[in-house]
Amino acid sequence: MKVSNRFPLLGERLCLDLVNTCRLRDGESVDLLEDRPALAEWLDAQASRIRWSGPPVDEDLATLKATRAAITPLLRAAAHHTRPATPDVENFNRLLAQPAPALQLEWSASAAPHSTVAARHQSAVLQHRILVDALGLLAGSDCTRLRQCAHPGCILLFVATHPRRRWCRTDTCGNRARVARHYRTHKAPS
Ligand SMILES: [Zn+2]
Repeated sequence: MKVSNRFPLLGERLCLDLVNTCRLRDGESVDLLEDRPALAEWLDAQASRIRWSGPPVDEDLATLKATRAAITPLLRAAAHHTRPATPDVENFNRLLAQPAPALQLEWSASAAPHSTVAARHQSAVLQHRILVDALGLLAGSDCTRLRQCAHPGCILLFVATHPRRRWCRTDTCGNRARVARHYRTHKAPS
């Protein structure tokens, strides 16, 4: 996974990396997929697992945002051990039921076999893949390990493959919490 300064948490499951493009900054919700260049940067960071050609267009951005809007309430509910609203489940199922554009196998003399799709269908294929990934997370054994970062100012989600993992990243939220704890412990009584 490439490093990107724009996106604070990458390398989780694909559906979580998309949800984590919304974050809190000073208590305010911030959309990190604010425009096409931002989406291009996210896709580039995911290049090891998303094959994408050409710069994304407005429709791609809209599709990925619709995908994110569909999966976010379900994944947040699961992370909080609650059930999402029924319309959220219905919306997810409606998108999931849309037929994915056909993939094709490309196998040339100069490259390893890989799947291809027409550029105009790239985001629809990616949407389907992310929805299926979210379905697999919600309906699979990893669902019980889905967590929201323990820092009160952070909403990033991750699968705690290590049971003691509490923070999205130890070098950001974990460190902020440690500094706050240290300050509380050593603060001179007023
Ligand atoms: Zn965090």
